[in-house]
Amino acid sequence: MRCSVHSDFGALFHRPYASDVTKRYLVRTFGCQMNEHDSERLAGLLEADGYVPATDTEDADVVVLNTCCIRENADNKLYGTLGHLKSVKDRRPDMEIMVAGCLSQKDGDLVAQKAPYVDVVLGTHNVHRAVDLLHEHLATGDSVTEILSETVAEDHELFPSALPVVRESGHSAWVTIQIGCDNSCAFCIVPSVRGPEISRAFGDVVAEVERAAADGVTQVTLLGQNVNSYGRDLTLRMKRGADADATSHIDAAHLDAAHVDAAHLVGDAWVAEGTDRARPLFADLLRSVGEVEGIRRVRYTSPHPKDLRPETISAMADVDTVCEHLHLPLQSGSDRILATMHRGYTAERYLERLAAARAGVADLAVTTDIIVGFPGESDADFAETLEVAAEARYDNAFTFVYSSRPGTEAADLPDAVAHDVAVERMMRLRTVVERTSRLGHVARIGHTEEVMVEGPSRRDPSRLSGRTRHNRLIHFPSDRPLRPGTYAHVLVTEASTTNLIGELVEIVATPNHRRRIPVSLA
Ligand code: SAM
Ligand code: SF4
Repeated sequence: MRCSVHSDFGALFHRPYASDVTKRYLVRTFGCQMNEHDSERLAGLLEADGYVPATDTEDADVVVLNTCCIRENADNKLYGTLGHLKSVKDRRPDMEIMVAGCLSQKDGDLVAQKAPYVDVVLGTHNVHRAVDLLHEHLATGDSVTEILSETVAEDHELFPSALPVVRESGHSAWVTIQIGCDNSCAFCIVPSVRGPEISRAFGDVVAEVERAAADGVTQVTLLGQNVNSYGRDLTLRMKRGADADATSHIDAAHLDAAHVDAAHLVGDAWVAEGTDRARPLFADLLRSVGEVEGIRRVRYTSPHPKDLRPETISAMADVDTVCEHLHLPLQSGSDRILATMHRGYTAERYLERLAAARAGVADLAVTTDIIVGFPGESDADFAETLEVAAEARYDNAFTFVYSSRPGTEAADLPDAVAHDVAVERMMRLRTVVERTSRLGHVARIGHTEEVMVEGPSRRDPSRLSGRTRHNRLIHFPSDRPLRPGTYAHVLVTEASTTNLIGELVEIVATPNHRRRIPVSLA
């Protein structure tokens, strides 16, 4: 879809720094880590164009809303925020409003219809075009909506990390290893707004981590919707490249000779390692990224339970930098519901994989995602979810009330669960998760944890907050300010359901990143 029609905060704000340049931007992020990373990229593109960060909407020449549509309340948040921005724009008509991300990919023209004062609308497949579209609008005065139905084929345009990026943090970086998703979970809108799964070349991922480490980044989080299937499409693309008649979700026209070349698809770094496998596994990537000099912590999200391979567990166990934390989304503990969701595993299989992970990786923390109130979920189904959650001994869980999303299979299923029933179930699930979470936290008392400092505690600025390798939040007093990105040993003295409290023992490593990383071109 490409049209010109008549035509404005997760919360990621890019903070200001001194500059004489007058054009200022503000990016507000809704949703997941992928969106946060896309926002870094939008910020990078705007800064490459001469924009500097604004403090707030009053100060901004361009406000970008980077949207999410995974649940219905995301729609409400966007249109609520747009309503607020309209009043700002009424006073300051020169302020440009851009809407990007999953919700604009889903709604397309509807955004401009519902909010005709929006200046630029773009989707998930053309983030690299954000500044071009802004210029187009500035040149003509017309509002612009550009939504592409499929992703573009140029690698540097495909992956968020492969464009100019302004990182939110100097010591920590998101690195996209894969975009889109080939699964068809009945509740999920992601495949329709993010497109099919495309893996990034192995060598490109490692090279980006090396560049980030050279900039002073010490923690990387590898991002993908189904990280354990990383590389699967690379083999397919190679095969399809060799067979010009093959049908593929990758447009055959994009498969020129260069794309058939293994080194191009998987990257020299992996090909050079010499292996009899046709493609790299996620485990290979974990090992290579984990060995990059300067990297102290590797995290990743999310592995789909059906694709969690023993190789991944071994890599987690072998590579010291890979944190002992596994986010393994369960979604439901009922086999009947899991089958209707098309998750590809049973509760028993899930628990077996979890047990294998715990057996392989010593002292593993486990978190999850669970949906309650999926259509047809009975009291008995939900009771099974409670049982599996208790048996899994989660350290934390993101629990969601099912939200019907247009175009998904589940949207047409009968037997909707009443909202108040779903909310009541979620409270009961939270009680189970909080019990195991608290036990897990209490078990840390007396241990000395390696903590990466994130900054002053939000509730009590006299204390510092940080994350342990298990990704647990910990607060501790310090008689001196420690820069975010500092690594310290902290003795755990107290624990609650949500966090740990500790005492600083010693500084382990100080950060060497610049305070603000300017635009870094890949
Ligand atoms: N790819 C990841 C996986 O398969 O586990 C999930 C990514 S999704 C962005 C994050 C979480 O949102 C899901 O794990 C699921 O629990 C939740 N979610 C997705 N669609 C939902 C819906 N329609 N209603 C409620 N929660 C939903
Ligand atoms: Fe959605 Fe399922 Fe893909 Fe995760 S694996 S993004 S839940 S379709």
